[in-house]
Parts: sequence; C-alpha cells; structure tokens
Amino acid sequence: MTDQREIKQFRLGAKRKRYAPPSSVTERYKTACKIRSSQRWRNLRALYLTKQPVCQDCADAAACEVHHIEGVSAHPELAFEWENLRALCIPCHEKRHQRRK
Ligand SMILES: [Zn+2]
Ligand SMILES: [Zn+2]
Repeated sequence: MTDQREIKQFRLGAKRKRYAPPSSVTERYKTACKIRSSQRWRNLRALYLTKQPVCQDCADAAACEVHHIEGVSAHPELAFEWENLRALCIPCHEKRHQRRK
C-alpha cells in the first residue's frame, strides 16, 4: 500500500470512525508527523531551499516545497538524508504525489 493511500484511509477512518488502521500504520504515520513538525526538519528544509532555490523537476519555477523521494512514513530513516530530498514548486510536488497512487 502506498503512503498516500494509507494516509487517505487513515483520515477517512478518523472521519467515519469505522476504519481502524493496523497499529503499525498508525505508528508510522505518527512518526512521519513528528518528523515533519520537528525543528530539525524545518531547519533542513529551509537550508535545502536556499541551496536549491529552483524547482528540480521543471527548472522553471521557484521551489517552495521539499519532497521526500522515499516517503517519510515508509522510510523515516531517510527523512534527513540530503540525497532523499527534492526541491519542488507546488504543481510539480502535487504531480509527484499523484504519480504515486
Ligand atoms: Zn516545478
Ligand atoms: Zn512530497
């Protein structure tokens, strides 16, 4: 199951209170959430965008998002790896996540 789908089902479940995700999924989602909201990630993200100010996919727009090539919930150990990051503009970032579905 892809990250996106897990997250979607997780959100859906929260709304309907019917779908209970397996605890391993919940834990992974929590870990990813913790990483994304951490000061360490915010610092790295800001640093990455100063080094990569242009979108790495279209090279035509200012990058304002940092994407994880290997998703954080599936690979939390790669969350802070420079090689696992990609600076993207918003449309390119959306495209990347749509492609994963
Ligand atoms: Zn772009
Ligand atoms: Zn992303």
